[in-house]
Amino acid sequence: MAEKVIIIGSGPAAWTAAIYCARAALKPLVIEGALTEENRLAGTLPLGQLALTTEVENYPGFPAGEIGAYLDAGIAADRRRLMAPSGKEGVSGPELMELMRQQAINFGARVITDDVVDVDFAARPFRLSASDGNTYQSHAVIVATGARANYLGLPSEEKYKNRGVSACAVCDGALPRFRNKPLVVVGGGDSAVEEADYLSKFASTVYLVHRRDELRASKIMVQRATTNPKIEILWNRTLAEVLGNDKDGVTAARLQSTVGQPDLEQAATGVFLAIGHTPNTAFLKGKLELTAKKYIKWTTAARTYTSVEGVFAAGDVADDYYRQAVTAAGSGCMAALDAERWLAAQGL
Ligand code: NAP
Repeated sequence: MAEKVIIIGSGPAAWTAAIYCARAALKPLVIEGALTEENRLAGTLPLGQLALTTEVENYPGFPAGEIGAYLDAGIAADRRRLMAPSGKEGVSGPELMELMRQQAINFGARVITDDVVDVDFAARPFRLSASDGNTYQSHAVIVATGARANYLGLPSEEKYKNRGVSACAVCDGALPRFRNKPLVVVGGGDSAVEEADYLSKFASTVYLVHRRDELRASKIMVQRATTNPKIEILWNRTLAEVLGNDKDGVTAARLQSTVGQPDLEQAATGVFLAIGHTPNTAFLKGKLELTAKKYIKWTTAARTYTSVEGVFAAGDVADDYYRQAVTAAGSGCMAALDAERWLAAQGL
């Protein structure tokens, strides 16, 4: 029998959609992604990008405080046992995602821990194929598979992720390890300048490392970078290696020249990658209209509709601009309401 609604994904957009769909008695089925080594390496494990961050200080409702007792009470014991001890900084990304997941389950969402590898949106009910060979049918689908930050793929980058290497200044920039210390940002687009500008509030100096002699960023952002006394642009360089040790995490970056100059070892306690994001849309294989950057295209202003009626998109998979947990959660809510109304209009 076909489900009323299947939600693909497991970040803030997916769990918010699940909470709203469950409370609307749609009995949502969430396909949250598979626990595989391949997904670990790609940064696409269940619970999404937030699960790869540390403290989340900008999600409303979680001021600094002792959250351990709340987690003990709120999270199912079998999963709570697996969670790292809680700090006193408010909520962490993994904790926030576990709380959202549990909240959805409490209202009746069912969860499949697998990847959707193919979809058939040509006829309704839609058919989704999972990597274990199971297929699922659903009248409505909410795609909330998020995006992954691009990294260069250096082994040293992987080694120091969460210990000074990050792809999200807004998430991590205010951590104590970055305060009044030199930091490196890699990239030359608007994101890189925005990250550098944001980090300059905390850092002693931000070294913006760009592989060419001209920024890709828009004029106003270029001006922001060049007039900020705490940003120094290192032209014609790429990140060759993140340097550090087990005790301190990141201590420096080795920067290669793209114009034949000797390597430069720049002291830094943090290295931020801002070289773009890739939405997790490969499994859609042309079955939904995508933008030029392969994000799902929202086809109607202020709605989560896609090019296929009955398929809705929420969160970073359709948003290359805001990319915040709270905006993803907001659009997850919108997708659930859009799906609920659409199903009602179909008499389902
Ligand atoms: P982007 O515009 O695609 O820029 C990516 C940057 O990373 C480019 O400078 C690129 O260098 C560099 N890069 C890519 N791969 C690299 C590699 N392997 N090694 C070294 N450098 C590499 O991406 P974005 O900055 O994330 O921006 C995405 C979109 O969001 C844009 O449309 C942007 O305007 C928008 N945005 C706007 C704002 C704002 O207005 N405040 C803020 C953020 C984002 P090259 O230049 O040499 O290709």
